[in-house]
Amino acid sequence: MTAPASLTVDLDALSHNFHALEAVTGVPVHPVVKANAYGLGAVLVAKRLLAEGARTFFVARLNEGVALREALGPEPTLYVLDGCVGDAAGALKAADLRPILNHSDQIASWTAAGGGACGLQIDTGMNRLGFRPEDAPEPFQGLELVMSHLACADEPGEPMNRRQRDAFAAASARYPDALKSFANSGGCFLGPDYGFDAVRPGICLYGGGPEGRPDPRLKAVATLTAEILQIRELPAGESVGYSRGFIAGRTRRIATCGAGYADGVFRSNCPDGRVWAAGALRPVLGRVSMDVIAVDVTDADIGLGDRVELFGANRPIDDAASAAGTISYELLTSIGNRCDRTCLGAR
Ligand SMILES: *Cc1c(COP(=O)(O)O)cnc(C)c1O
Repeated sequence: MTAPASLTVDLDALSHNFHALEAVTGVPVHPVVKANAYGLGAVLVAKRLLAEGARTFFVARLNEGVALREALGPEPTLYVLDGCVGDAAGALKAADLRPILNHSDQIASWTAAGGGACGLQIDTGMNRLGFRPEDAPEPFQGLELVMSHLACADEPGEPMNRRQRDAFAAASARYPDALKSFANSGGCFLGPDYGFDAVRPGICLYGGGPEGRPDPRLKAVATLTAEILQIRELPAGESVGYSRGFIAGRTRRIATCGAGYADGVFRSNCPDGRVWAAGALRPVLGRVSMDVIAVDVTDADIGLGDRVELFGANRPIDDAASAAGTISYELLTSIGNRCDRTCLGAR
């Protein structure tokens, strides 16, 4: 029995993207698997990437790290981007997690708990987390990795990228014994001097393009489909769905498909949403409902029980996101728990 809305995670495509990022940067890829690997399943994703040669992973939160350590066992190195928050030091140590220390209170509480392997974030202009270069600490025992994060990596022409890169090169030179990591997905494509010792891509592993649009070097990993629950003829002049969101100017054939808010379909798909069905992109009509969307399948060779693709190999996730006024990150992390989940390429 499959649910009407179904997510497929293609692990071979994930591996392809991992090796594509290795090839383009020439340095080790340290996958970012925070937020449940952007909604796709952190354990599933990390296990496959371990098999592909990844040895170090990044999560955002302590609880993500604890869960991943439990699932992956003692081998991989796991960094927690939030760092040593509040009284987290004990829990970090218990799970052999390495905090990315972001400010002096974090260094103090990590040190007070005995210290140990950790990372350090230098803020080179994002003004989010990390030490300003002029406030960065002296090298200290246990410091294994120094990192910074790009603010505009999805805009290759933005001069801020070069400024941040140069600031990181200067600030990180103070820590000759630590591994240097700078680039997220977008940064992987900015050129060889952005790679440093290891890169930290997230979205490109999962098939989103580095500039928010589809990139031929990457394969779609996530495919979200919805089953057609009913098909009807819509006479000219009649409307579809809540608030008469669409009114037929001429007779249409309408497929009601089983995917709605709880599956990760955004209300902002009205009015520009499209899905791939029977070999073409077809408009989503009217408002998204709680559990269903209406798709114009006039002249399409498609019937009850067939599926439409909301995003995947035929409807790139970046295009689906743009049509809904958002980005691939938000679409992926919004995939609902109610969806069926299957994976392709499991070994
Ligand atoms: C989320 C995150 C990444 C990965 O970003 P993508 O744009 O998904 O590649 C890398 N580094 C840090 C610090 C992050 O917060």
